[in-house]
Amino acid sequence: EAKAKGKNTYHFYSSELNAAANERLYIENELRQGIRDSQFHLNYQPQVDSRTGKVLGFEALIRWTHPTQGAISPVKFIPIAEATGLIVELGEWVLHEACRFSARRAQAGLEANVSVNLSVRQFQDANLIPSLANILEQTKVAPKNLHLELTESMLMGDVDTAISQLHDIKRLGVSISIDDFGTGYSSLSYLKRFPVDVLKIDRSFVQDIPDDPNDMAITAAIIAMAQKLNLNVVAEGVETREQMEFLKANNCFVVQGYYFSPPLSEQAVAELPEVLSGCESAVD
Ligand code: C2E
Ligand code: MG
Ligand code: MG
Ligand code: MG
Repeated sequence: EAKAKGKNTYHFYSSELNAAANERLYIENELRQGIRDSQFHLNYQPQVDSRTGKVLGFEALIRWTHPTQGAISPVKFIPIAEATGLIVELGEWVLHEACRFSARRAQAGLEANVSVNLSVRQFQDANLIPSLANILEQTKVAPKNLHLELTESMLMGDVDTAISQLHDIKRLGVSISIDDFGTGYSSLSYLKRFPVDVLKIDRSFVQDIPDDPNDMAITAAIIAMAQKLNLNVVAEGVETREQMEFLKANNCFVVQGYYFSPPLSEQAVAELPEVLSGCESAVD
């Protein structure tokens, strides 16, 4: 194709590829340096009771402030950290940091549930269980306050190994959420074999409520299915009061999104009231 259109087109593609490869290499190197120099921190987004506004817990989300590039999104660097294996070290730091946050909250008598995103490399790492046990012991976090977010695709390869790893996690007392639910290539028949606790409805289904009747039907169906399977359900990316009301009317009682709060620094979290009221203007 490129050749048929002539040399210039070909050059255009190859220089784009070069730029992408260079950026990747750049980020990879900077990641190593960033880990050494502690350029990362966590922000925490409240998960809220849609009936009362009460804060029920937080999702920990990693942030990278690069000394010259400024903020680099996890959407950009997490895949590179995964591909290079750096995610194992970085992910362990995230777990530790999130548990220290939870421990400080518990110490202060505040809601201490924290949800941590796990990458596929971490999930498949033979060292995950001892590492988790170690972090829980060191930080004195009650295991029931720690929730791990996995995606469907992480479970779909070697299903039996995945199930046994999930059981090992649950044996520690830690609970498991399926993140971005509905977007992966998952088989519903496996869902009941996986010892999971929570389905997190992907933002893509929530964002077009109330304009897209299909997304509304899918969202209501996921909630109903979760209920029948005895799973809890969390809706992510809730930006408007209408979305929140729709979810509440359909028995989804845990919501997360800009409507209630963006991810915040630990200090900003400390200043939050225990009950939040929604705020449409938070969305631009
Ligand atoms: P995720 O786990 O699905 O996290 C939700 C993402 O949606 C976050 O983006 C959050 O800031 C954003 N979000 C929350 N509420 C709203 C909303 O109302 N509207 C919109 N448009 N977005 C909302 P973020 O922080 O950029 O993270 C992106 C993804 O990067 C995460 O998706 C997760 O897959 C990954 N990630 C973030 N932190 C970590 C981490 O510590 N470890 C690993 N392995 N992955 C992480
Ligand atoms: Mg998540
Ligand atoms: Mg998600
Ligand atoms: Mg997502």
